[in-house]
Amino acid sequence: MAMQGLKASYFRLRRALRQGFFRPQIITFLPALLLAGYWFGGEGVILIAALLFPVLAVMGGLFDSGHGATRRDGATDLLLREDFLDLLSEAIPRAEAQNWNTACFVLEIDDWTTIVERIGKSGAETVLRRTSERIESAMRGADFAARLEGPRFAVALDPVRRVDLDAALNIAERLQGTAGQPVSIDATSVRVSVSIGFCLNTRAPRRTGEALLGAAEIAAEEARTNGPGGTRAYSREMRAQISSRNALMDDLLSAFSEGQIRPWFQPQVSTDTGKITGMEALARWLHPERGMIAPGDFLPAIEQAGLMERLGEVMLHHACSALRAWDRAGVSVPTVGVNFAAAELRNPKLVDRVKWELDRFDLAPERLTIEVLETVVATTDDDTITRNIAALATMGCPVDLDDFGTGHASISSIRRFAVNRLKIDRSFVMRVHEDREQQKMVSAILLMAEQLDLDTLAEGVESIGEHAMLAQLGCGHIQGFGLARPMAFEDTIAWIEKHNARIVETPIPKGIARE
Ligand code: C2E
Ligand code: CA
Ligand code: CA
Repeated sequence: MAMQGLKASYFRLRRALRQGFFRPQIITFLPALLLAGYWFGGEGVILIAALLFPVLAVMGGLFDSGHGATRRDGATDLLLREDFLDLLSEAIPRAEAQNWNTACFVLEIDDWTTIVERIGKSGAETVLRRTSERIESAMRGADFAARLEGPRFAVALDPVRRVDLDAALNIAERLQGTAGQPVSIDATSVRVSVSIGFCLNTRAPRRTGEALLGAAEIAAEEARTNGPGGTRAYSREMRAQISSRNALMDDLLSAFSEGQIRPWFQPQVSTDTGKITGMEALARWLHPERGMIAPGDFLPAIEQAGLMERLGEVMLHHACSALRAWDRAGVSVPTVGVNFAAAELRNPKLVDRVKWELDRFDLAPERLTIEVLETVVATTDDDTITRNIAALATMGCPVDLDDFGTGHASISSIRRFAVNRLKIDRSFVMRVHEDREQQKMVSAILLMAEQLDLDTLAEGVESIGEHAMLAQLGCGHIQGFGLARPMAFEDTIAWIEKHNARIVETPIPKGIARE
């Protein structure tokens, strides 16, 4: 560790010399400076300068083979991509001639946008500089490094005898361990972690510098999506995987911009009165060629592409605009439930965004129900999530605990998150009218809800039998295919009117469900 610190200081001094001292302007005036030194200080000054200059020149890298004429990155003083590629292209045949190896590593600082947001541009430059010094300190001999775009760096090995996959993995771990350490800026310490991808010259798709660096970059991208702190060696399948992922990403982006992703609505009714008590907004992708795609088939891709928040914005916007449209049409939909993913709940600006959207449509907060998965409530130790849910609840938005019974939320977390209603998971509802065990489970949940003063809704109610039993057991609301499948907004008003007409015709006796 101490050795590495010493090496990092050496690289700092070396950069200072190269950037401050060995500039053409300074070297041009060197003879004049020496003359002035002799004039004022005599022969001693000339002697010291004559001895010191070569030492500084060596330290400043003035004689580095091939590196001398290169241009360097302003922030880190590392090579730039083109010069790195030149050296790499020259290293590959040199390695092959002796049956030796070279390898290229690409490192990327994880969560770079968050870091820049937190510490600003100049702080981020310091992180880049420190990281580059650490990378250099972990290199050996005539290995060389470059700064690529953004928070990415490349390192190549000067040809060495027999580097296999294991050896390359060890080097990758060493680079990653040295580069991924906290950087202190003013009084704060910034945690830095690094993902790394690499490729050996023998495994590159072609025997050129570009192909080797390109392969390491593909591996780094793969490492980053499995990060933070991911490590991946290049394999030929990666290229296909990445290109299909990129195609899906392009597809998703245009789906959002062309409004192909929007909510469908599934009604919820009271078991007591039969009246509509709400709608749940469920995402649908109306693909121009593939038809309607269910969330199970595109949510993972949205999540991987980091577009979960974008989905949340779209769903919230459409939910509010639907509420407004129902109000205008004179049909009563008291509230719409929107599913909030953990990624959205982590956004510190979430509450402001929700407030803004409600204000824009002039809607009271009770009109928007926040659906949070029980697993999120049960497992989170993230302060922002807790604060966001509590703030939305304080604002007046009801909170539904989704898929209840599958996530082991504690009673104290149910209290802490200010939950209003439990959405009993479909697995407890299935065949509840015929299965005693199911009835016991549902009864236990209903009893607990009553004691905690929570409302209840049964999800995935498919049959009249299930509906009737749930009403009899005292569950407050139901939702499911038995009542209605999720439907496009355009179909909702007709459905609501028909449903309302049916309850007026045949008022249900309390405790007995209708279809
Ligand atoms: P969920 O929140 O539990 O939503 C209920 C799911 O059960 C919906 O599936 C709904 O169509 C389905 N369902 C409703 N009634 C019945 C029934 O009687 N029988 C059966 N077998 N299924 C029924 P969907 O629309 O495919 O959504 C699946 C999941 O995707 C949702 O489960 C939710 O976790 C997630 N999701 C949907 N939209 C969004 C969204 O906008 N944002 C987020 N973060 N997640 C969403
Ligand atoms: Ca839900
Ligand atoms: Ca659910």
